[in-house]
Amino acid sequence: MFQLAERIKQLPPYLFKAIDEKKKEVAAKGVDIIDLGIGDPDLPTPPRIIDAMIQAVRDPANHHYPSYSGMEAFKVAIAKWYEKRFSVTLNPESEVIALIGAKEGIANFSLAFLNPGDYALIPAPGYPVYNSGTHFAGGRPHVLPLYKENDFLPDLDSIPEEVARNATILWLNYPNNPTAAVADRHFFEQVITFANTHDIMVCNDLTYSEITFDGYKPMSFLEAKGAIERGIEFHSLSKTFNMTGWRIGFAVGNSEAIKGLGAIKSNIDSGIFQAIQIAGIEALRAVEESSEAMQKIYTKRRDIMVNGLRECGFTVNPPKATFYLWVAVPDSYSSVDLTARLLEEAGVVVTPGNGFGDPGEGYIRLALTKDEGRLVEAIERIQNIGI
Ligand SMILES: *Cc1c(COP(=O)(O)O)cnc(C)c1O
Repeated sequence: MFQLAERIKQLPPYLFKAIDEKKKEVAAKGVDIIDLGIGDPDLPTPPRIIDAMIQAVRDPANHHYPSYSGMEAFKVAIAKWYEKRFSVTLNPESEVIALIGAKEGIANFSLAFLNPGDYALIPAPGYPVYNSGTHFAGGRPHVLPLYKENDFLPDLDSIPEEVARNATILWLNYPNNPTAAVADRHFFEQVITFANTHDIMVCNDLTYSEITFDGYKPMSFLEAKGAIERGIEFHSLSKTFNMTGWRIGFAVGNSEAIKGLGAIKSNIDSGIFQAIQIAGIEALRAVEESSEAMQKIYTKRRDIMVNGLRECGFTVNPPKATFYLWVAVPDSYSSVDLTARLLEEAGVVVTPGNGFGDPGEGYIRLALTKDEGRLVEAIERIQNIGI
């Protein structure tokens, strides 16, 4: 009957589908499932953000088409936060754009800057949208494998000259989903040198900048010298403020990059509902306050899981940021085998590392998105089955 377009057919197979099906099977048997598979915070959005939204919804001024690039007040709030948090000065008019979530901007960015056949340099394991956006734009993904021995940073020297010459975009994501790795200034400076040499745009996904542990504060790519000439940074309010369902994020950085993204967006969507942007302004007004509260909660959860998993015999390093644990799978298992066993025998859902790309084989990802009681129970169940 109807044939899907090649751009859909060419997407890599959805590896989580098998897990989803198995999850349903196990749940149908009446097993109480502890789902640590999804990167979606379990806690509610802070009340003051909800209150700001409710007030804004009642105001008829907010019922119209919003501005494509975002309300001025939201963009000014973003620039102010960047100045305060990263000491990066941005022009709210030309260097900031509001997004319907970081995912939307990431997917659309490739449409703005990739010509068919251009390479995009894409880390794996990684957030799948860098790859799907590249496919939709007709670009060629070149995988940058992230290995433990390189601290899960891409090895830029290993990129073939022909690929580097024809590459248009380099995707980065630090703090990293799924490996929880972080990057420092030295790495970003190397990236800028590489990008300058080959005339490549750099896109850093900084979704997890405020989900951190032990006082660690990730830097913005834009803090590195020459970064604003080279690229942009994507942000999301989803993880920082437990707002995954609201759909709000933003991108900041190079004005030509922002303009190109805006050109695609103005043809595809019509901006974010203003009431949500007003709630976003309220969120950005007190980032530190709400993230400190979240950091406390995630720290307790992290410690329960890291200690518990170690007692079960796993090798796991406590992360400095993100709400994920990237756990090495014992030699006797593949990622998928261990995921299946944890689900079938312990009722615990995790994500197989290879679901984020082949170089993720040998790992599973656990999200710290359940309360302490459930995490303790997950550990007990894993202990009981033995690994
Ligand atoms: C969750 C996530 C996103 C998506 O954020 P939204 O603003 O909800 O679209 C983007 N990148 C990474 C790495 C993520 O983990």
